[in-house]
Amino acid sequence: MGRRRAKGKVYLVGAGPGDPKLLTLRALEVLKGADLVIYDRLVDRAVLDMIPAGVEKRYGGKERGSGEARQSELNEITIREAEAGKEVVRLKGGDPFVFSRGGEEAEALRERGVEFEVVPGITSALGVPAYAGIPATQRDMASTVTIVTGQEAGGKSSVRWARLAKETDTLIVLMGATRAREIAARLLRGGSPPDTPMAAIERGTTRRQRTLLTTVGEAADGELGEVGTPSVLVVGRTVALASKLGWWPDGKARMSPGYSSRQKRARRGTS
Ligand code: SAH
Repeated sequence: MGRRRAKGKVYLVGAGPGDPKLLTLRALEVLKGADLVIYDRLVDRAVLDMIPAGVEKRYGGKERGSGEARQSELNEITIREAEAGKEVVRLKGGDPFVFSRGGEEAEALRERGVEFEVVPGITSALGVPAYAGIPATQRDMASTVTIVTGQEAGGKSSVRWARLAKETDTLIVLMGATRAREIAARLLRGGSPPDTPMAAIERGTTRRQRTLLTTVGEAADGELGEVGTPSVLVVGRTVALASKLGWWPDGKARMSPGYSSRQKRARRGTS
């Protein structure tokens, strides 16, 4: 195991969803002691500003299309720099082990005998809904949560949407902004009631956060319109709490017309 002092070390670090205050103490400590920080596309500018001036920073973002080659190139650079004795940070948006390929990178490091540490971060899957006032679970409302990728929602998908529609209380979709409509349609076909609340939260935890509230039925009809990136989609009953529990200065929280009338009906029904 990498006990030889000449060898450096690699840190797979989560940067959180955007708000720099959501960095962990360990992440900050590691960033301060690093020789080189390779950061991903989704790491917020404000987080990068917390890296001391003397630390070398390199953009390691993967642009669409060049994924695999870029990934192995980055792994190679990381390993080479660590073998040269450097402390290298791979800084990733959210949590490094949630849709960030941190696990694959750890495997590559282990194979090559490079020492590493994983610094978990606040994943956007949970942190972003929290900043929109949407609890992932809530007693009597939601006791199961599933985090999925929306990337493959267009065609054949390894995500079993119909099953999720029936079996998960809160569904959290990453990388689904541009496919929100298809996702809603798939859930609807899978048995989600059309009035199930659904939210798209753009640029969560930043000053430009914006929450769009709708229902699965309306989203399937295209009511959400353009959803900006990055966005987290949330589907489930707890989404309805957003109107009551929103607390972050959320620029332009907007409800689709059907959503507000549904809420009104629900209020009338209970009073
Ligand atoms: N490892 C990351 C996820 C990487 S996948 C994490 O744990 O958060 C990238 C996806 O994360 C984006 O497509 C989007 O769905 C989500 N995302 C990341 N930051 C976000 C933010 N500030 N607001 C909304 N969604 C965000």
